[in-house]
Amino acid sequence: MIKEDCIFCKLANKIIPAEFIYESDNFVAFPDANPKVEGHTLIVPKSHSVNLMDMPATLGRELLEAIKFVGEMKIKEGFQGFNIIQNNFPAAGQVVMHSHIHLLPRKEGDGVRMLV
Ligand code: 5GP
Ligand code: ZN
Repeated sequence: MIKEDCIFCKLANKIIPAEFIYESDNFVAFPDANPKVEGHTLIVPKSHSVNLMDMPATLGRELLEAIKFVGEMKIKEGFQGFNIIQNNFPAAGQVVMHSHIHLLPRKEGDGVRMLV
């Protein structure tokens, strides 16, 4: 389902052009427009869902495959690790109300601090 006024629906379904670094049947990945670290990537389902609680669990395997593909790509690019973060609901920092996973590439001693 595409929600008409949703920016990530438009990006993931090529209504607005985006630079995909990965695409599968139900997911795309593209760089975050306001990267928090070098290589910050968003993994986004093509079908609108608000957050993880709203996303069909049947997409879980394909989502994991997308995360692993992008993570491996970043390691091949020379990063030494990565974090995945997903904000669910505004109280947890969610701003874009279409499900997405943040993949944050890391290097030894990069000084980036996470909550956990
Ligand atoms: P949230 O806080 O909802 O988990 O994160 C939303 C993320 O989407 C932010 O990191 C923000 O920079 C990114 N973002 C918002 N609008 C756009 C856009 O139009 N294009 C891209 N590539 N990223 C966006
Ligand atoms: Zn959407």
